[in-house]
Amino acid sequence: YSSDKIRNFSIIAHVDHGKSTLADRLLELTGTIRKGHGQPQYLDKLQVERERGITVKAQTATMFHKHSFLRTETEFLMNLIDTPGHVDFSYEVSRSLAACQGALLVVDAAQGVQAQTVANFYLAFESNLTIIPVINKIDQPTADPDRIKAQLKSMFDLDPSEALLTSAKTGQGLEQVLPAVIERIPPPPGKSNSLLRMLLLDSYYDEYKGVICHVAVVDGALQKGEKISSAATGQSYEVLDVGIMHPELIPTGMLLTGQVGYIVSGMRSTKEARVGDTLYHTRSTVEPLPGFKPAKHMVFSGLYPADGSDFEALNHAIERLTCNDASVSVTKESSSALGLGFRCGFLGLLHMDVFHQRLEQEHGAHVISTVPTVPYIFEYADGSKKHIHNPATLPSNPKQRVTACWEPTVTATIIIPSEYVGSVITLCSERRGEQLEHSFIDSQRAFMKYRLPLREIVVDFYNELKSITSGYASFDYEDADYQDSDLVKLDILLNGQPVDAMATIVHRLKAQRVGRELVEKLKKYIDRQMFEITIQAAIGSKVIARETVSAMRKNVLAKCYGGDVTRKRKLLEKQKEGKKRMKRIGSVDIPQEAFHELLKVS
Ligand code: GDP
Ligand code: MG
Repeated sequence: YSSDKIRNFSIIAHVDHGKSTLADRLLELTGTIRKGHGQPQYLDKLQVERERGITVKAQTATMFHKHSFLRTETEFLMNLIDTPGHVDFSYEVSRSLAACQGALLVVDAAQGVQAQTVANFYLAFESNLTIIPVINKIDQPTADPDRIKAQLKSMFDLDPSEALLTSAKTGQGLEQVLPAVIERIPPPPGKSNSLLRMLLLDSYYDEYKGVICHVAVVDGALQKGEKISSAATGQSYEVLDVGIMHPELIPTGMLLTGQVGYIVSGMRSTKEARVGDTLYHTRSTVEPLPGFKPAKHMVFSGLYPADGSDFEALNHAIERLTCNDASVSVTKESSSALGLGFRCGFLGLLHMDVFHQRLEQEHGAHVISTVPTVPYIFEYADGSKKHIHNPATLPSNPKQRVTACWEPTVTATIIIPSEYVGSVITLCSERRGEQLEHSFIDSQRAFMKYRLPLREIVVDFYNELKSITSGYASFDYEDADYQDSDLVKLDILLNGQPVDAMATIVHRLKAQRVGRELVEKLKKYIDRQMFEITIQAAIGSKVIARETVSAMRKNVLAKCYGGDVTRKRKLLEKQKEGKKRMKRIGSVDIPQEAFHELLKVS
């Protein structure tokens, strides 16, 4: 396939507008996967993706499609890259777009342009991609394609006559999609007679083959058996296997200019496979490709083994999983309450949740995660500045006086039906937001931009926004600068002892309320034990909230009337089972859920 017969495109959209379904239909249409293969969302391979109905990893599939172009029928090789829609994973989207010349911008025919439609449009637009608008779900009774066309025109200056109308559900209009891709999206621009330059798009670890890298051949060509080097590490490798994702790996022995495919090169760990790296023929000299901006970690949380003993097992599980998710940062840390563990940086809370779930499901780890925090910057009297990723590392009674602190902010895009404007403004000002823009997409929809502290949106903002707008709001954000802020450390004390894993950093004006809520939440989750437990929230030495859990002797056998031995044993086992999910801090047993609940207070 010479590069004029290659098309690389991606599908971008707001979550749930039908990207994955459309990708499935295109794979079926080209005979790449069988129709009725019994697996909806073929490209959503991970268990978390299937359970939550979201795409987490971008996936690539190569398809072949015959098309009559200039009267001769030609077979085209088309690489489709399905992308995640959730804001946490926009990093994956921008990476995928680097290998594409065009994108299908899918918009739900009833819902219209939403916050991530806007974000994704600009990602594609800034990468100079050809954008084909696809108005999907036209089978819905409330579909209004003309209204959506008008929105696309007014928001993005897209020509309404270029929009394709489809239903990925009924199949209507799908036959126009691939011809439009072939005719409107340019072939990859690389030079086939130049030295090899390959962009490393992604990597994962396979039990049998080792590290598998997804690559886009920008210039030149690659053959099996050749020696390649990494621009980032200088390491050299032999190409042991090379081929395409069809979508299963199909060895082809080579990849030509403009192709997207995989290589296996004897890398021992995915740490060697740096996403965005340039690979080239060993002993040739090339200018490295621009690569990607590194992932930005928005939230940090401690991960600790739930049953104390198996730190090594957790260590192993995290190592394995980070092989397939290089966007997590991991450093060892220790907590006096929880022992040895890890401080991990995530792209957002959903990313954190997904990582946690994958650790448990795919790697059998049992994990307690501590209250997440955003990265703050503190300045001390001696002029030194510290990045704080763990509130516990901030002294409660600093001898060195804190002279200034800064918190990260985001620029948020919110799209809502006009009647909710008032309540959204109230919510945003409660969350310390500053309005940057307020306009209308059409007569029914308002568009707002806010600058908000990251801390205020990381937890529960989206749920709150959804609930005050009857589910109609859509929301997206990108990171903005740090702003100075009046922050304090809030300690939680159990029986007078501060629990480092429960410390948080809050805005001074919110400390009172957050402290109150935290101790009330904890009281609900801590069972009565054989002694009284006091729960306190404090700023420095000043206690701002307090609750007590009174003592009670818990006797599971009290429920047993007769002397039924098996029943007795069952109950005892049940109690043991319950204990497993507890974490003993000092002399107090804290259930795992308590940690999870604390994170919902903001
Ligand atoms: P993604 O989040 O953009 O990948 O969206 P999905 O492909 O997962 O689709 C979200 C939901 O919309 C699923 O329940 C699909 O079955 C449904 N859906 C997708 N395309 C259509 C369509 O053309 N018509 C209708 N009625 N439903 C669709
Ligand atoms: Mg999807």
